[in-house]
Amino acid sequence: MRTLITGGAGFVGSHLCERFLADGHEVVCVDNCITGTLPNVEHLRANAHFSFIRHDISHPLEIDGPLDNILHFASPASPVDYLRHPIPTLKVGALGTHNTLGIAKAKNARYLLASTSEVYGDPEVHPQREDYWGHVNPIGVRGCYDEAKRFAEAITMAYHRHHGINTHIVRIFNTYGERMRLDDGRVVPNLMGQALRGERLTVYGDGSQTRSFCYVSDLVDGIARLLAADFHEPVNLGNPNEVTILDFAKEILELTGGASRIEFKPLPQDDPKVRRPDITRARQLLGWEPTVERRDGMRRTLEYFRNKV
Ligand code: NAD
Ligand code: UDP
Repeated sequence: MRTLITGGAGFVGSHLCERFLADGHEVVCVDNCITGTLPNVEHLRANAHFSFIRHDISHPLEIDGPLDNILHFASPASPVDYLRHPIPTLKVGALGTHNTLGIAKAKNARYLLASTSEVYGDPEVHPQREDYWGHVNPIGVRGCYDEAKRFAEAITMAYHRHHGINTHIVRIFNTYGERMRLDDGRVVPNLMGQALRGERLTVYGDGSQTRSFCYVSDLVDGIARLLAADFHEPVNLGNPNEVTILDFAKEILELTGGASRIEFKPLPQDDPKVRRPDITRARQLLGWEPTVERRDGMRRTLEYFRNKV
Protein backbone atom coordinates (compact mmCIF):
# COMPACT_ATOMS: atom_id res chain seq x y z
CA MET A 1 0.00 0.00 0.00
CA ARG A 2 1.28 3.48 -0.89
CA THR A 3 -0.58 6.31 0.82
CA LEU A 4 -0.46 10.07 0.21
CA ILE A 5 -1.35 12.25 3.20
CA THR A 6 -1.74 15.99 2.63
CA GLY A 7 -1.39 18.08 5.78
CA GLY A 8 0.74 15.22 7.14
CA ALA A 9 2.96 17.56 9.20
CA GLY A 10 -0.05 18.89 11.10
CA PHE A 11 -1.61 17.67 14.32
CA VAL A 12 -3.99 14.97 13.00
CA GLY A 13 -1.95 14.33 9.83
CA SER A 14 1.21 13.41 11.76
CA HIS A 15 -0.74 10.80 13.77
CA LEU A 16 -2.13 9.42 10.49
CA CYS A 17 1.39 9.15 9.01
CA GLU A 18 2.44 7.21 12.11
CA ARG A 19 -0.59 4.93 11.98
CA PHE A 20 -0.30 4.03 8.29
CA LEU A 21 3.46 3.43 8.59
CA ALA A 22 2.74 1.10 11.51
CA ASP A 23 0.19 -0.69 9.32
CA GLY A 24 2.96 -1.34 6.76
CA HIS A 25 2.11 1.39 4.23
CA GLU A 26 4.62 3.51 2.37
CA VAL A 27 3.62 7.07 3.33
CA VAL A 28 4.14 10.18 1.22
CA CYS A 29 3.51 13.27 3.33
CA VAL A 30 2.76 16.57 1.56
CA ASP A 31 2.68 19.80 3.54
CA ASN A 32 3.57 23.47 3.07
CA CYS A 33 3.88 23.98 6.85
CA ILE A 34 1.50 26.94 6.93
CA THR A 35 0.09 25.74 10.27
CA GLY A 36 1.97 22.45 10.79
CA THR A 37 5.63 21.94 11.59
CA LEU A 38 8.35 19.56 10.46
CA PRO A 39 9.20 18.51 14.05
CA ASN A 40 5.78 16.76 14.08
CA VAL A 41 7.19 14.17 11.64
CA GLU A 42 10.89 14.40 12.51
CA HIS A 43 10.76 10.99 14.27
CA LEU A 44 9.44 9.40 11.05
CA ARG A 45 12.06 10.76 8.68
CA ALA A 46 14.55 7.95 9.32
CA ASN A 47 11.93 5.41 8.20
CA ALA A 48 12.67 4.32 4.62
CA HIS A 49 8.93 4.02 3.97
CA PHE A 50 8.33 7.69 4.77
CA SER A 51 8.93 10.64 2.47
CA PHE A 52 8.15 14.32 2.82
CA ILE A 53 7.33 16.76 0.01
CA ARG A 54 7.09 20.45 0.87
CA HIS A 55 4.36 21.70 -1.44
CA ASP A 56 1.27 23.89 -1.42
CA ILE A 57 -1.42 21.46 -2.56
CA SER A 58 -3.55 24.34 -3.87
CA HIS A 59 -1.11 24.09 -6.79
CA PRO A 60 -1.06 20.90 -8.90
CA LEU A 61 1.33 18.15 -7.86
CA GLU A 62 2.71 15.21 -9.81
CA ILE A 63 3.58 12.09 -7.86
CA ASP A 64 5.71 9.40 -9.47
CA GLY A 65 4.59 5.79 -9.21
CA PRO A 66 1.37 4.19 -8.04
CA LEU A 67 -0.80 5.35 -5.14
CA ASP A 68 -3.42 3.26 -3.37
CA ASN A 69 -4.83 5.84 -0.96
CA ILE A 70 -5.07 9.62 -0.70
CA LEU A 71 -6.07 11.32 2.54
CA HIS A 72 -6.64 15.04 2.07
CA PHE A 73 -6.07 16.69 5.46
CA ALA A 74 -4.33 19.90 4.36
CA SER A 75 -6.17 22.96 5.69
CA PRO A 76 -5.80 25.42 8.51
CA ALA A 77 -8.18 24.05 11.15
CA SER A 78 -8.08 26.37 14.14
CA PRO A 79 -10.40 29.41 13.97
CA VAL A 80 -7.44 31.67 14.82
CA ASP A 81 -5.42 30.10 11.97
CA TYR A 82 -8.14 30.31 9.34
CA LEU A 83 -9.07 33.85 10.33
CA ARG A 84 -5.39 34.72 9.81
CA HIS A 85 -5.27 32.85 6.46
CA PRO A 86 -8.78 33.11 4.95
CA ILE A 87 -7.74 32.96 1.30
CA PRO A 88 -5.28 30.02 1.60
CA THR A 89 -8.05 28.25 3.57
CA LEU A 90 -10.58 28.75 0.77
CA LYS A 91 -7.99 27.73 -1.82
CA VAL A 92 -6.91 24.51 -0.12
CA GLY A 93 -10.54 23.48 0.46
CA ALA A 94 -11.42 24.18 -3.17
CA LEU A 95 -8.29 23.92 -5.36
CA GLY A 96 -6.45 21.55 -3.01
CA THR A 97 -9.41 19.19 -2.97
CA HIS A 98 -9.71 19.42 -6.77
CA ASN A 99 -6.00 18.69 -7.19
CA THR A 100 -6.01 15.71 -4.85
CA LEU A 101 -9.16 14.29 -6.47
CA GLY A 102 -7.35 14.63 -9.80
CA ILE A 103 -4.46 12.58 -8.42
CA ALA A 104 -6.95 9.98 -7.13
CA LYS A 105 -8.49 9.75 -10.60
CA ALA A 106 -5.12 9.46 -12.34
CA LYS A 107 -3.87 6.78 -9.93
CA ASN A 108 -7.21 5.03 -9.38
CA ALA A 109 -6.67 5.52 -5.64
CA ARG A 110 -9.07 5.40 -2.73
CA TYR A 111 -9.79 8.92 -1.46
CA LEU A 112 -10.68 10.29 1.96
CA LEU A 113 -11.58 13.93 2.60
CA ALA A 114 -11.17 15.51 6.03
CA SER A 115 -14.35 17.49 6.45
CA THR A 116 -15.60 19.00 9.67
CA SER A 117 -18.49 19.53 12.06
CA GLU A 118 -18.27 23.17 10.91
CA VAL A 119 -20.33 22.18 7.85
CA TYR A 120 -23.25 22.21 10.34
CA GLY A 121 -22.41 25.82 11.28
CA ASP A 122 -24.24 27.08 14.37
CA PRO A 123 -26.56 24.08 14.40
CA GLU A 124 -30.31 24.16 14.91
CA VAL A 125 -30.43 20.37 15.16
CA HIS A 126 -28.79 18.80 18.19
CA PRO A 127 -26.96 16.42 18.30
CA GLN A 128 -25.82 16.68 14.69
CA ARG A 129 -26.66 13.81 12.33
CA GLU A 130 -25.15 13.45 8.89
CA ASP A 131 -28.49 14.15 7.17
CA TYR A 132 -28.67 17.67 8.68
CA TRP A 133 -27.72 20.29 6.04
CA GLY A 134 -26.45 22.84 8.50
CA HIS A 135 -26.82 26.50 9.43
CA VAL A 136 -23.78 28.33 8.06
CA ASN A 137 -23.19 32.05 7.59
CA PRO A 138 -21.37 32.08 4.22
CA ILE A 139 -20.17 35.68 4.55
CA GLY A 140 -19.28 35.57 8.25
CA VAL A 141 -15.68 35.33 9.43
CA ARG A 142 -15.84 31.53 9.69
CA GLY A 143 -17.32 31.26 6.17
CA CYS A 144 -13.83 30.86 4.63
CA TYR A 145 -13.46 27.52 6.41
CA ASP A 146 -17.06 26.29 6.52
CA GLU A 147 -17.84 27.01 2.88
CA ALA A 148 -14.46 25.68 1.69
CA LYS A 149 -15.24 22.38 3.41
CA ARG A 150 -18.80 22.35 2.07
CA PHE A 151 -17.42 22.89 -1.45
CA ALA A 152 -14.84 20.16 -0.77
CA GLU A 153 -17.64 17.73 0.13
CA ALA A 154 -19.60 18.70 -3.00
CA ILE A 155 -16.69 18.20 -5.40
CA THR A 156 -15.77 14.92 -3.68
CA MET A 157 -19.31 13.60 -4.22
CA ALA A 158 -19.20 14.85 -7.85
CA TYR A 159 -15.94 12.91 -8.47
CA HIS A 160 -17.56 9.87 -6.91
CA ARG A 161 -20.77 10.11 -8.93
CA HIS A 162 -19.32 11.37 -12.20
CA HIS A 163 -15.92 9.63 -12.31
CA GLY A 164 -16.65 6.63 -10.07
CA ILE A 165 -13.82 7.49 -7.65
CA ASN A 166 -13.89 5.50 -4.41
CA THR A 167 -14.33 8.48 -2.10
CA HIS A 168 -14.94 8.83 1.64
CA ILE A 169 -15.85 11.88 3.70
CA VAL A 170 -15.18 12.16 7.43
CA ARG A 171 -16.82 14.99 9.37
CA ILE A 172 -14.42 15.47 12.25
CA PHE A 173 -15.64 16.97 15.53
CA ASN A 174 -13.28 18.73 17.97
CA THR A 175 -10.24 16.50 18.37
CA TYR A 176 -7.29 17.08 20.68
CA GLY A 177 -4.04 15.47 21.75
CA GLU A 178 -0.27 15.54 21.43
CA ARG A 179 1.24 17.69 18.65
CA MET A 180 -1.41 20.37 18.68
CA ARG A 181 0.42 23.68 18.44
CA LEU A 182 0.47 25.38 21.82
CA ASP A 183 -0.29 28.69 20.10
CA ASP A 184 -2.89 27.52 17.56
CA GLY A 185 -5.62 29.35 19.49
CA ARG A 186 -7.97 26.39 19.93
CA VAL A 187 -9.51 25.94 23.33
CA VAL A 188 -7.46 22.89 24.39
CA PRO A 189 -3.93 24.30 23.82
CA ASN A 190 -5.03 27.79 24.90
CA LEU A 191 -6.45 26.77 28.28
CA MET A 192 -3.85 24.09 28.99
CA GLY A 193 -1.01 26.47 28.15
CA GLN A 194 -2.51 29.16 30.37
CA ALA A 195 -3.02 26.72 33.26
CA LEU A 196 0.56 25.41 32.99
CA ARG A 197 1.97 28.96 32.92
CA GLY A 198 -0.15 29.98 35.91
CA GLU A 199 -2.08 32.53 33.83
CA ARG A 200 -5.82 33.20 33.81
CA LEU A 201 -7.87 30.82 31.66
CA THR A 202 -9.68 32.76 28.92
CA VAL A 203 -13.28 31.56 28.59
CA TYR A 204 -15.11 33.26 25.72
CA GLY A 205 -18.68 34.45 26.30
CA ASP A 206 -20.26 33.08 29.48
CA GLY A 207 -18.80 29.62 28.78
CA SER A 208 -22.23 28.03 28.31
CA GLN A 209 -21.44 27.01 24.71
CA THR A 210 -20.72 23.30 24.39
CA ARG A 211 -18.21 21.11 22.56
CA SER A 212 -17.51 17.36 22.57
CA PHE A 213 -13.82 16.47 22.66
CA CYS A 214 -12.37 13.37 20.99
CA TYR A 215 -8.87 12.09 21.74
CA VAL A 216 -6.73 11.80 18.62
CA SER A 217 -6.08 8.01 18.79
CA ASP A 218 -9.83 7.37 18.68
CA LEU A 219 -10.21 9.61 15.64
CA VAL A 220 -7.30 7.97 13.80
CA ASP A 221 -8.79 4.53 14.43
CA GLY A 222 -12.14 5.68 12.98
CA ILE A 223 -10.46 7.18 9.91
CA ALA A 224 -8.58 3.94 9.18
CA ARG A 225 -11.88 2.03 9.44
CA LEU A 226 -13.72 4.48 7.21
CA LEU A 227 -11.03 4.36 4.51
CA ALA A 228 -11.53 0.59 4.30
CA ALA A 229 -15.34 0.82 4.24
CA ASP A 230 -17.52 0.59 1.16
CA PHE A 231 -19.44 3.78 1.94
CA HIS A 232 -19.31 7.18 0.24
CA GLU A 233 -21.58 9.53 2.17
CA PRO A 234 -20.24 11.60 5.08
CA VAL A 235 -19.60 9.96 8.44
CA ASN A 236 -19.34 11.89 11.73
CA LEU A 237 -16.37 10.96 13.92
CA GLY A 238 -16.16 12.51 17.35
CA ASN A 239 -16.85 11.91 20.99
CA PRO A 240 -20.51 12.39 21.98
CA ASN A 241 -19.55 13.33 25.54
CA GLU A 242 -20.62 17.01 25.55
CA VAL A 243 -19.34 19.61 28.02
CA THR A 244 -19.73 23.37 28.45
CA ILE A 245 -16.55 25.34 27.89
CA LEU A 246 -16.77 26.70 31.44
CA ASP A 247 -16.89 23.18 32.92
CA PHE A 248 -14.07 22.15 30.61
CA ALA A 249 -11.94 25.03 31.92
CA LYS A 250 -12.70 23.89 35.50
CA GLU A 251 -11.64 20.32 34.63
CA ILE A 252 -8.30 21.66 33.38
CA LEU A 253 -7.82 23.61 36.61
CA GLU A 254 -8.55 20.48 38.63
CA LEU A 255 -6.09 18.41 36.60
CA THR A 256 -3.27 20.94 36.80
CA GLY A 257 -3.96 21.72 40.44
CA GLY A 258 -2.80 25.26 39.74
CA ALA A 259 -4.08 28.41 41.37
CA SER A 260 -5.12 29.99 38.05
CA ARG A 261 -8.45 31.76 37.79
CA ILE A 262 -10.95 32.06 34.98
CA GLU A 263 -11.26 35.28 32.98
CA PHE A 264 -14.27 35.87 30.69
CA LYS A 265 -13.59 37.40 27.25
CA PRO A 266 -15.96 38.35 24.40
CA LEU A 267 -17.44 35.50 22.36
CA PRO A 268 -16.03 35.41 18.80
CA GLN A 269 -18.48 36.09 15.93
CA ASP A 270 -20.60 33.09 14.81
CA ASP A 271 -19.16 30.84 17.53
CA PRO A 272 -21.43 27.74 17.49
CA LYS A 273 -23.53 27.54 20.69
CA VAL A 274 -23.66 23.75 20.81
CA ARG A 275 -21.85 20.87 19.16
CA ARG A 276 -22.13 17.15 19.67
CA PRO A 277 -21.93 14.37 17.08
CA ASP A 278 -24.59 11.74 16.58
CA ILE A 279 -22.29 8.76 15.89
CA THR A 280 -24.97 6.17 15.13
CA ARG A 281 -23.71 5.87 11.54
CA ALA A 282 -20.08 5.28 12.60
CA ARG A 283 -21.21 2.74 15.21
CA GLN A 284 -23.32 0.77 12.73
CA LEU A 285 -21.06 1.06 9.70
CA LEU A 286 -17.61 0.85 11.25
CA GLY A 287 -18.26 -0.73 14.66
CA TRP A 288 -16.49 2.37 15.97
CA GLU A 289 -16.88 4.45 19.07
CA PRO A 290 -14.42 6.44 21.18
CA THR A 291 -12.65 4.51 23.93
CA VAL A 292 -10.49 7.17 25.63
CA GLU A 293 -12.12 9.01 28.55
CA ARG A 294 -11.73 12.79 28.47
CA ARG A 295 -9.73 12.82 31.72
CA ASP A 296 -7.21 10.27 30.40
CA GLY A 297 -6.80 12.06 27.07
CA MET A 298 -6.47 15.40 28.84
CA ARG A 299 -3.78 14.03 31.19
CA ARG A 300 -1.73 12.75 28.24
CA THR A 301 -2.12 16.05 26.38
CA LEU A 302 -1.14 18.05 29.47
CA GLU A 303 2.05 15.95 29.78
CA TYR A 304 2.90 16.83 26.18
CA PHE A 305 2.30 20.56 26.72
CA ARG A 306 4.22 20.55 30.02
CA ASN A 307 7.42 20.08 28.04
CA LYS A 308 6.52 22.85 25.61
CA VAL A 309 5.55 25.81 27.82
P1 NAD B 1 -3.29 21.46 11.58
O1 NAD B 1 -3.30 22.91 11.28
O2 NAD B 1 -2.44 20.97 12.69
O3 NAD B 1 -2.91 20.62 10.29
C1 NAD B 1 -3.20 21.03 8.99
C2 NAD B 1 -1.96 20.78 8.13
O4 NAD B 1 -2.25 21.12 6.77
C3 NAD B 1 -0.78 21.65 8.56
O5 NAD B 1 0.38 20.85 8.67
C4 NAD B 1 -0.65 22.66 7.44
O6 NAD B 1 0.66 23.14 7.28
C5 NAD B 1 -1.15 21.85 6.25
N1 NAD B 1 -1.63 22.67 5.13
C6 NAD B 1 -2.54 23.67 5.17
N2 NAD B 1 -2.72 24.20 3.95
C7 NAD B 1 -1.90 23.50 3.11
C8 NAD B 1 -1.64 23.56 1.72
N3 NAD B 1 -2.24 24.46 0.92
N4 NAD B 1 -0.76 22.67 1.17
C9 NAD B 1 -0.15 21.77 1.96
N5 NAD B 1 -0.35 21.66 3.29
C10 NAD B 1 -1.22 22.52 3.85
O7 NAD B 1 -4.82 21.05 11.84
P2 NAD B 1 -5.46 19.65 12.26
O8 NAD B 1 -6.25 19.86 13.48
O9 NAD B 1 -4.43 18.58 12.22
O10 NAD B 1 -6.50 19.44 11.07
C11 NAD B 1 -6.23 18.53 9.99
C12 NAD B 1 -7.45 18.39 9.11
O11 NAD B 1 -8.54 17.86 9.88
C13 NAD B 1 -7.93 19.71 8.50
O12 NAD B 1 -8.38 19.47 7.18
C14 NAD B 1 -9.11 20.09 9.38
O13 NAD B 1 -10.06 20.85 8.67
C15 NAD B 1 -9.65 18.73 9.78
N6 NAD B 1 -10.38 18.82 11.07
C16 NAD B 1 -9.71 18.83 12.26
C17 NAD B 1 -10.41 18.95 13.44
C18 NAD B 1 -9.74 18.94 14.80
O14 NAD B 1 -10.43 19.05 15.81
N7 NAD B 1 -8.46 18.77 14.90
C19 NAD B 1 -11.80 19.08 13.43
C20 NAD B 1 -12.44 19.12 12.19
C21 NAD B 1 -11.71 18.96 11.02
N1 UDP C 1 -12.72 29.17 23.53
C1 UDP C 1 -12.58 29.75 24.78
N2 UDP C 1 -11.35 30.19 25.16
C2 UDP C 1 -10.25 30.07 24.38
C3 UDP C 1 -10.38 29.48 23.11
C4 UDP C 1 -11.63 29.04 22.71
O1 UDP C 1 -13.57 29.89 25.53
O2 UDP C 1 -9.16 30.50 24.82
C5 UDP C 1 -14.04 28.66 23.12
C6 UDP C 1 -14.51 29.12 21.75
O3 UDP C 1 -15.17 30.36 21.83
C7 UDP C 1 -15.45 27.98 21.37
C8 UDP C 1 -14.83 26.76 22.03
O4 UDP C 1 -13.96 27.26 23.05
O5 UDP C 1 -16.72 28.19 21.91
C9 UDP C 1 -14.01 25.89 21.08
O6 UDP C 1 -13.14 26.74 20.37
P1 UDP C 1 -12.01 26.22 19.39
O7 UDP C 1 -11.27 27.43 18.93
O8 UDP C 1 -11.23 25.15 20.02
O9 UDP C 1 -12.75 25.56 18.13
P2 UDP C 1 -14.23 25.55 17.54
O10 UDP C 1 -14.89 24.40 18.19
O11 UDP C 1 -14.92 26.84 17.84
O12 UDP C 1 -13.97 25.36 16.10
